Amino acid sequence: MSKLSDSKVITCKAVVCWGIGEALKLEEIKIEPPKSTEVRVKILYASVCHTDLLYTDGFPAPAFPRVLGHEGVGVVESVGEEVTDVKAGDFVIPTYVAQCEDCENCVSGKTNLCLKYPIPLSGLMTDGTSRMSARGQRLYHTISCSTWSEYMVVDAIYVLKIDPSIIDLPHASFLSCGFSTGFGAAWKEAGVERGSSVAVLGLGAVGLGAVEGASKQGAARIIGIDKNERKRTKGKAFGMTDFLNPDKYDHKSISQLVKELTDGTGVDYCFECTGAPPLINESLLAIKMGKGQAIVIGAGNYPTVKISSQPLLLGGTLKGSIFGGLKAKTDLPVIIDKCKNKEIQLDELLSHEISLEDADKVFDLMKHPDCVKILIKL
Ligand SMILES: [Zn+2]
Ligand SMILES: [Zn+2]
Repeated sequence: MSKLSDSKVITCKAVVCWGIGEALKLEEIKIEPPKSTEVRVKILYASVCHTDLLYTDGFPAPAFPRVLGHEGVGVVESVGEEVTDVKAGDFVIPTYVAQCEDCENCVSGKTNLCLKYPIPLSGLMTDGTSRMSARGQRLYHTISCSTWSEYMVVDAIYVLKIDPSIIDLPHASFLSCGFSTGFGAAWKEAGVERGSSVAVLGLGAVGLGAVEGASKQGAARIIGIDKNERKRTKGKAFGMTDFLNPDKYDHKSISQLVKELTDGTGVDYCFECTGAPPLINESLLAIKMGKGQAIVIGAGNYPTVKISSQPLLLGGTLKGSIFGGLKAKTDLPVIIDKCKNKEIQLDELLSHEISLEDADKVFDLMKHPDCVKILIKL
């Protein structure tokens, strides 16, 4: 049970990874009060994203011990004196992209990557310190936050206030990374046009978000690709028109199979959602000559990737994107509104619900063939 001490330091439970390859541990940790621009949040639900697994492998830098989790939803417990956008009692989701609305990038309309408040890859607060500790050691965050914890402190620029009367709290958690990344990639980053053809490599939450985004944009053909046969039904629920299981074709590459399905031309847009290095090149090889785009949205822990030059010389575009190009303050509320209006169904994502006490076993659960999204109830 969490308790408030006289010094306002909160002692609570959190899932900690102590080093590369080490088993996750449920620990009692201490959370300091928020500093002037920060908020302390009581987490109600968290969810699991594939990138959490990468973090236990030392991505993007081996900073341990680390409290995992970057998807979640909670209620603000207290705020620093300079915080004006949210107050105690507000419901918020964390976002690792900030939007100052003032820097060159924010005003350009070309990117969601703010220059004033970059994605906090150090795993620390903007002042280079942490508000969390366990067994006397400083704890790192996962990107801007730490959601697999009963409480977290996060800079207010990295949270978005939500209205719990218009969106289910578990759904709000799902929107804080994976699904939104895919949806945004089709909607904002690529701007998929009506009638176009799309391929999506990997039908996890990110890939299903890309399928849904392409479908809402009016794509005529959406080819979902996954080695897990059970994703055939799941993909269709989000608007997929064709399913490819590459394991069923021994001597053909994914790009060959996509071209066979599209009269030899390839697709207008190919979204790479797996983070597997060879599939980035397969995405590039699967697009149309002259105007196709391959968009990398799945994170992977690799330093370099081998790329074929010919599709680039033939006018193909290979680009990457963080959080699907979505701006936290202006684009996420649009997606939340679509959920409110039932234009987007997020119920299909939920496959497992567990308690924080069982969150040390999430990576075993992720291997289950039916696993799409694991919800952690705190
Ligand atoms: Zn900015
Ligand atoms: Zn994520």
